[in-house]
Amino acid sequence: MTGQLDLTGAPSFPRLLGQEKACRLLERSLVSDRLAHAYLFRGPDGVGKRLFAERLAARVNCADPAGLEPCGRCGSCRKFLSSNQPDFQVISPEKGTIKIDRIRAMSRSLGFPPYESRVRVILIEDIHTMRAAAANSLLKTLEEPPAQNLLILTADGGRELLDTICSRCQVLPFFSLSLPQTVAILQKELPELGAEEAGLLARLAEGSPGRALRLHRADLLELRSEVLQLLMDPAMSLDNASGRVLLVAERMSALGDELLSLFALLRLWFRDLLAPDVGGSSVVIQGSVPISALARESLKHWNSRDLFARLQAVDRAEQELARQCNRTLVCEILLFHLLQ
Ligand SMILES: [Zn+2]
Repeated sequence: MTGQLDLTGAPSFPRLLGQEKACRLLERSLVSDRLAHAYLFRGPDGVGKRLFAERLAARVNCADPAGLEPCGRCGSCRKFLSSNQPDFQVISPEKGTIKIDRIRAMSRSLGFPPYESRVRVILIEDIHTMRAAAANSLLKTLEEPPAQNLLILTADGGRELLDTICSRCQVLPFFSLSLPQTVAILQKELPELGAEEAGLLARLAEGSPGRALRLHRADLLELRSEVLQLLMDPAMSLDNASGRVLLVAERMSALGDELLSLFALLRLWFRDLLAPDVGGSSVVIQGSVPISALARESLKHWNSRDLFARLQAVDRAEQELARQCNRTLVCEILLFHLLQ
């Protein structure tokens, strides 16, 4: 797990943000010593399910815990913080699904006592990706897990899950975080990120810090600036733009599935310009000086009708992508429409 550095330079567990309901339920079970043998953390992608599972695994093996918090100093905690805890295993989807062989091997291993900890913790991520055979194999283990084992399953909130799996676990709901919470996590994880960028990524990720971090890794904001600069460049006209448009379109196309996120960012940009008086919701207009200058420039450049036409162009590009049209071509056509 990733520990952040505290002032003494020693690794410590990162602070958990949000998920008050899951925190309350878990803390109550821990304090009254009535932990279930299996939990299902159910909720959107990227909102902290894995972090909570890691924390719970550390907590149940900690020599000196307080509430939900492991001490961070005992032998077990130190092993967790250095990702060196042999009794914490993680099973994640491989090529999009949880392999039945992994479930079978895990079930067999539960018959043996943990190597050195009080409780062996098995985290099985994204069980909504499991096929029926793997799910049935897991069901058998969930019916009668041997003592000294804790199973934590995670799943996407929206999908259908086998009722029988849900009924054998204590289900804890996880929710999207608020915008300020998402911004706070981004600024902690990426101290170099400016307030405006953090705000934009948080809005785009809709309360999923994990998704916001993935968007950041895809260099989405940089590409967005590049597109906007291309559109704002006074020297750019439909006649001389093609070389630069082709280059930018290729970079956009290389985003793969995240191209839709770039479209969403462009849509936010045009929408914010259409409604500069909305106040709190308009990050672009309140942003740092260079972007505000760009926003002011754009407003000189385009009236509301132009902005509306550009919003529609982004919508059309999105529809073409959904129809499996050639990605680079869709980007080129979009850029030409935005330049018009
Ligand atoms: Zn400890």
